[in-house]
Amino acid sequence: MFIGDLHIHSKYARACSKDITLQRLADNAKLKGLSFLGTGDFQHPKHYPDILNSLQEDSNGILWTKETNPFPFIWQTEISLMYKQDGKGRRIHHTILSPNKGVTAQIIESLGKRGRMDYDGRPIFGFSSIELVEMMRSISEDIEIIPAHCLTPYFGIFGSMSGFDSFEDCFKEKSKYVNAVETGLSAAPPMLWRVSKFDKLNLISSSDPHSYHSYRLGREATLFDFKQITYQNIIKAIRTGEGLSGTIEVDPNYGKYHFDGHRVCGVSFSPEESKKHNNICPVCRQKLTIGVQNRIEQLADRPEGFVKNNAKKFYSLLPLAELISVILKKGVSTKTVLQEYNKLISKFNTELNVLMDVSLEDLKLVVNEKIAETVIKIREGKVRYKPGFDGNYGRVILDDKDENNLIKEDHNFLKSIQKGLDSFSH
Ligand SMILES: [Zn+2]
Ligand SMILES: [Zn+2]
Repeated sequence: MFIGDLHIHSKYARACSKDITLQRLADNAKLKGLSFLGTGDFQHPKHYPDILNSLQEDSNGILWTKETNPFPFIWQTEISLMYKQDGKGRRIHHTILSPNKGVTAQIIESLGKRGRMDYDGRPIFGFSSIELVEMMRSISEDIEIIPAHCLTPYFGIFGSMSGFDSFEDCFKEKSKYVNAVETGLSAAPPMLWRVSKFDKLNLISSSDPHSYHSYRLGREATLFDFKQITYQNIIKAIRTGEGLSGTIEVDPNYGKYHFDGHRVCGVSFSPEESKKHNNICPVCRQKLTIGVQNRIEQLADRPEGFVKNNAKKFYSLLPLAELISVILKKGVSTKTVLQEYNKLISKFNTELNVLMDVSLEDLKLVVNEKIAETVIKIREGKVRYKPGFDGNYGRVILDDKDENNLIKEDHNFLKSIQKGLDSFSH
């Protein structure tokens, strides 16, 4: 089995940490237990030479780090399209995979004719998703386009703010050339199974990390079953589902856009609560940011709990450092957390091995009972979350005390905001 993370960013992408390098990504991917990564941002005028200098391409379109134990990458980027279609402004992010250096150079040339690419690793273009497919098909049939984080409100192909209701609405007659969507952190496969028109789409999962750390990299990933990592094997799996064995997910409640709400107003609503408020924020009276769960409720023609025929297997996990951080109540990158993390990695080799396979008894030999038990609870889906909303990550609730603390925190936040509003209006 191979585990791939196909949506990566470089340090040149907006809001991404400035110390990301391909080597650091490779090092952490090994710790995580990932088998390959996307290069991220391949069209960026500074990242492109970085890729060419630090990695070596083989005849299968795979790029390897130049070290004794080389790590593989594939050519990958994400672009943002802003355009008007069917009377509505659209903002859609697409991940693009390229089969080799030659094709990548042609993609870069074509994109370069349509806009600047030096200001952000995820550049914005004014053409449509349909034109993107036409442009890529005219370069090579082996290029794969995958709509990114497909349900997020602002940039998802099915998102609430500027998305479409179906693949066909977005791509029209070109939809036959697009085969998969990225679920995104705020959605999990069972949510997408509820919409019958999504049945033909293959689901992949990626982490879209903004740093190289193991609590971001590979938090979502795609599982492949083929003999060798080649570009052709990867896209065959994405296109046909053959060789695509499933995904690694976080709990969708963990994602930043699962629920509806307003971050600055401290308002977080379930779809039902939003409905009661006519999708208007009770604090500022503006429209709420409608999240992924609500969007699924709008599109679904099947009940919650529906299981799709021949559905691929998925694991619902939480990055190990975050799990330890929640239990020890220390920051995710503190020494204390890192110490426990390293104990587990040095004993069981990779983080995904710890999260997916190691038994409770074995875990208890290395870390305290609470950490060991929580690993198993997460694996079995027995941990609750306070859902993320409007750009805020969801949070793990380990016990009632936790929940009370979160409620108190929210209450204080709301009070301080309210105070701010009052003094503003006076
Ligand atoms: Zn994106
Ligand atoms: Zn508000």
